[in-house]
Amino acid sequence: MTERVFNFSPGPAVMPVPVLEQIQGEMLALPGVGMSVLEISHRSKAFDAILAEAQALTRELLRVPENYRIIFLQGGAHLQFTMVAMNFLRDSGKTAEYILTGSWGNAAIKEAQKQGPTRVVWDGKEHNYSYLPKWSELKLSPEAVYVHFTSNETIQGIEFVGEPETGGVPLICDSSSDFLSRPVAVNRYGLIYACAQKNAGIAGVTMAVIRDDLVERVPKALPGMLDYSNFVKNDSRPNTPPVFAVYAFMLVARWLKNEIGGLEKMAALNQRKSKLLYDVLDSSGGFYRPHARPDSRSQMNVTFRLPSEELEKTFVQEATKHQLCDLKGHRSVGGIRASIYNAMPVAGVETLAGFMRDFAKRSG
Ligand code: PMP
Repeated sequence: MTERVFNFSPGPAVMPVPVLEQIQGEMLALPGVGMSVLEISHRSKAFDAILAEAQALTRELLRVPENYRIIFLQGGAHLQFTMVAMNFLRDSGKTAEYILTGSWGNAAIKEAQKQGPTRVVWDGKEHNYSYLPKWSELKLSPEAVYVHFTSNETIQGIEFVGEPETGGVPLICDSSSDFLSRPVAVNRYGLIYACAQKNAGIAGVTMAVIRDDLVERVPKALPGMLDYSNFVKNDSRPNTPPVFAVYAFMLVARWLKNEIGGLEKMAALNQRKSKLLYDVLDSSGGFYRPHARPDSRSQMNVTFRLPSEELEKTFVQEATKHQLCDLKGHRSVGGIRASIYNAMPVAGVETLAGFMRDFAKRSG
C-alpha cells in the first residue's frame, strides 16, 4: 500500500507530509553536504547547523526567554520521570508535589517515589480521570521542591489550560502530547519536557526547556547521562545524540513556522479540528459518550465510548475500511480515541466526523 490513510495513532503519530517529502528528497544527500543525514557525524558542521536551527526555532516558536536552555535528550518522557526526581528531589530534604490527572501523571510519580518523598496534591482516580482540578482548588505548599503536572493526559483525553500559580516553587510539566500545539507562558515554568513522537517529530528524542537556576541546582555526583547540567554544558551532546530525530524535529519546527505560521495559528487550527469531533459527540443524542467532562476536554486526544463494546469493535473495523486508522482507545479507558495532533489535516478530521455521524445514524 502506498496510499496514505488518515492516521489517528496516539504516538508515534502522523507527520506533516511536506516534512516526509523533504526527508525523502534529502535522504541520499543533505544539500551542500553530499552525505545522508543518517551518515553524518554528530560533531560535523552539518549537524551543528541542524541542532542550532532546532534550538532557535523552538525558542522563536515558544518565545523561550533568554534564561532558559533548550536541550535534546534520549530515553523518552519515561526517563524524564526519573531525571526530574534524581536532579531535583533526591537528597533535597524536601517533598515533591504531583498533580495526578491520569495515566501519565501516575507513571511520573511512581518513578519519583524511588528517589524521594512525594505528595499527591490532587488525584482524579475516583472519577477515572475524566476531569481536571481548577487551579484555585489546589493547596500547594511553598516548601515543596517542585510541583509536577501533565499538561495533556494522552490516554484519558483531558488537557489543562494554563498553569498553576506556584509562588517561588519551580513548576515542572510533562508536555509530551501537547508540546508545540499552542503557545505557552514558558516563564511560568522551571522545566518543560516532551517526547517528540506526537507533535514534534519522531521517536528517539526528548526535548527539555529548562531554566538556568534549575540547571545550577543539579547535584554534582549524578551519572552523566542523567544530569541535566551535563546536557546543557555539552550542548545536548554528552554522547552521540539521535541525529536523525533531531533533524526530523527541526523540519517539523520549520513547518510550524513557515507553513502554519506559528503557534497561535496552530492552536486555532487544533481548536477547529477538535471542535468538529466534540460537536459530533454532543449532538449524537447520547450515542457517543465522551470520557472527558466538557471543561477538561483535550484538543489533542478525543476519547469516547459507544453504547456497547461490540459496537466499538465494529466502529473501529468500519473506520479502518474508510482509511480512518488507529482509533482504538487505550485499554484503561476503553472505547475510541482519536488523536488529532498538529499534523492531522482538517480533511482527516472532517472525514472522521462524517463517518461518525453516519455510523450513529445506522447503529443508534
Ligand atoms: N507522558 C505523556 C503525556 C505521554 O503521552 C507519553 C507517551 N505516550 C509519555 C509520557 C511516555 O513517553 P515515552 O514513551 O517517550 O517514554
